[in-house]
Amino acid sequence: METTRYNLEDNPTIFGKILRKEIPANIVYEDDKALAFWDIAPKAPVHIIIIPKQHLACLRCMETSDANLMAHLLHVANIVAEKLDVKESGYRLITNAGQGAGQEVPHLHFHLLASKKGEHLPGF
Ligand code: 5GP
Repeated sequence: METTRYNLEDNPTIFGKILRKEIPANIVYEDDKALAFWDIAPKAPVHIIIIPKQHLACLRCMETSDANLMAHLLHVANIVAEKLDVKESGYRLITNAGQGAGQEVPHLHFHLLASKKGEHLPGF
C-alpha cells in the first residue's frame, strides 16, 4: 500500500499536475483544501472528481488527524451537487481505494456521479 504523502510541489500524480495548474481541468469548485473538476472520461452525465489539495494516496491511508479533511470533502460534494443542480435529484459518491478496487490515480479522490434530470443512474 502506497503510504507516501507528497507535498504539492512533489506530487507526481496527474491530479498533482492539475492542482499545480500544469495541465488544464474543467474546474467546478475550489477552496483552500479541495478542488473539484469534470472527469476527462465521464461515466455518467455528471461525473466530477473531488480531491483534497493535501496528498493522500487513497482512503486506506486516512489517519485520525485527516477526519476534518474527509468531512470537508463530503461537504464539498454537496456544494458541487448544488452547483450542478443534482443535489435535489440525487447523486452517488464513490472512491476506489487501491488497485484491486480499480483505482488508477494514487491521489485520494471521490467520484460524484449523477444522471440527467428525471433519469436514474444505473445501479451496481
Ligand atoms: P480511479 O480509477 O483512480 O478511481 O479514477 C481516476 C479518474 O480520473 C478516472 O475516472 C479518469 O477518467 C480520471 N482522469 C484521469 N486522468 C485525468 C485527467 O488528466 N483529467 C481529468 N479531468 N480526469 C482524469
